[in-house]
This record gives sequence, structure tokens and C-alpha cells, in this order.
Amino acid sequence: MFGKGKSAAKQEVRKFRTVGIPRALVYYLYPALWETFLRELGLTVVVSSPTSRKTVEHAGLISETEHCLPVKLSDAHLAELSGKVDAVFVPRILSTLRGHIACPKLGALPDCARAQFSDDFNVISVEINEARIPLEASMAELGKRLCAKVTDIQRAAERALSAMRTAQTESKPLIRPAGALYFLVIGHPYNLHDAFLSGPVFQKLETLGVCAEPVSFSCREAVPEPVKWDTCSIIYDRLRRLDPQEWHGVIHLSSFNCGCDSIVSTLYHDVLREKKIPLMTLVLDEHAGQAGVDTRLEAFVDSIKEQHEHAATRH
Ligand code: SF4
Repeated sequence: MFGKGKSAAKQEVRKFRTVGIPRALVYYLYPALWETFLRELGLTVVVSSPTSRKTVEHAGLISETEHCLPVKLSDAHLAELSGKVDAVFVPRILSTLRGHIACPKLGALPDCARAQFSDDFNVISVEINEARIPLEASMAELGKRLCAKVTDIQRAAERALSAMRTAQTESKPLIRPAGALYFLVIGHPYNLHDAFLSGPVFQKLETLGVCAEPVSFSCREAVPEPVKWDTCSIIYDRLRRLDPQEWHGVIHLSSFNCGCDSIVSTLYHDVLREKKIPLMTLVLDEHAGQAGVDTRLEAFVDSIKEQHEHAATRH
């Protein structure tokens, strides 16, 4: 579980006062959960700074070139915590949803963090496998490894779960002025909720007069067929239920080199084609320029507006 020898781990854990959480991957998969839990156990939690151009550039320098952007960013956020904390929390994520599996890259994160940063900090980890283990049990296991009392763990878990539920329902409901276009923006939570990655897309859509809403991950159920990957399955489930009378377009914020997206994007296309809802995929990588994204969004929105004007004149 820890970066150093197992025998020393128990004594060492008592010395941890400051624990870091990289503002990447797990931070967005479980909003507010782990930081609240660790804080409630009496630890000082340091979350790395929001992603910036500098983070992206650093990620490109220190991470494997073959990694997807979210994993590269995770490395840069870990590097930022070096020298600021006693330990960093990096769970082994095997599943975040019953009946589903997580992307295999998330299962190797603690090993990768230890391989790359063992000189900088200890790595605290726990297995998250909601296909087999309730989330509460993973929290209890982490609390036990941190030598916390059972009553403190229970109280911290309750508060953390409540903080996550609040964070997941915090987004403002979409205001729907008459005649406006409504878009759903889909993608993994760490793409959608990292303001540096998705902010320019939402801002551009707003300037084009489009009301855009990110897909919600607060739902904890999805049918695991035909998509086994957790976040992709929630998205697919939402697309299947999308009402073409209410939604005029879908934007997919995908990651370059994402194995899961490369397979499920065909399914997304198929389900939306049947509903006649246009879909545009924007691929995020460290080289993506704003000008290119703006031009593509303008063209996509213009074509949908034209279709609607055409349809209106025919009736
Ligand atoms: S699902 Fe895709 S974007 Fe997410 S970690 Fe895996 S490869 Fe990267």
C-alpha cells in the first residue's frame, strides 16, 4: 500500500499529517469524496492546483508519450505535490459502477506513481472495485490502514458520501430560452469537469447561443450491455434516453489515445444517428489549439441552425 517497506508502513502512517490528492482522474470520478474523508480523519489535505497551460506542458515532458491526456495530466499533478506533502493518495480503480469495469489504465495508477515518485512522497492506496466491493468498504479499509478508529471512520465516510452527493447535484439546471439550441456534452468526468479542458468549449457554445449541459454521473446504475466500461456505459445509457425533441446536438470530448473511446464512439454514433441528433467529437491532447476547436464548433452549430431554419420554413 505504501511506497516504502511494508513493516515500516504502520509506524510511518501515524506520521502522515499532510496528504496530497492530484486534481485528476479520481478527483473527478468521486467529486469531494476522498478529500472530505481524509480531512474528516484529521489529515491535512492538499489538492494540486487547477490544470493550466503549464500543467499540460509539464505533463508532455514527464509522462509516457503513449498515455492519454488525462493520465499524462495525472502525472503532472502528482509532480506538483512533490515537496508539499508527506504522502499522496492514489487508489487502484478497478470499477466505479456495479456490473462494470474501469479503464485498465486506472488499475495501474498506484504502481506507476510509486515507480515515478518514490523519492518524492509515500503513496497511500486502496482498491476501489464497486463491481465487487461497496464503496463504504473501500473507505473503511483505507481508514483502517491509516490507523483511524472505527467510529471515526464511520463518521468520516458518512460526511464524505454526503459531500459527494452534494457535489454531484450542484450543477445548475439548464435554462431553456425558447428557440435556443440545446446540446449535451459527453466525455469522461475528468475531461468534462477539468475547467482548463472543457471550459473553452462551454464558453464558445455560449457565445454561439447554445445552451450546453455536461452529462451527469450522479446516477449509480446502468445496464452493463453492450458497454462494460463504467463511465462509457453511463454516457451510452443517457444517449439511449435522449429525446430528439429536446436535444439538438451532442459534443463528445474524447481523449487522444483513449482505447475505450475508440470503441464506444461507434456505439454513440449509431444510437444518435437513429435519433437524428448530430454528434461532433473533439479530441483532446496536449497540442490542441483553441482556434481549431472554435472553427469546428462554429461550423457544427451553423449547420444545425441551418437545418432547423430549413425545417421551419417547410412547415
Ligand atoms: S478511459 Fe480513456 S481517457 Fe480515461 S484513462 Fe482510460 S484511456 Fe485514458
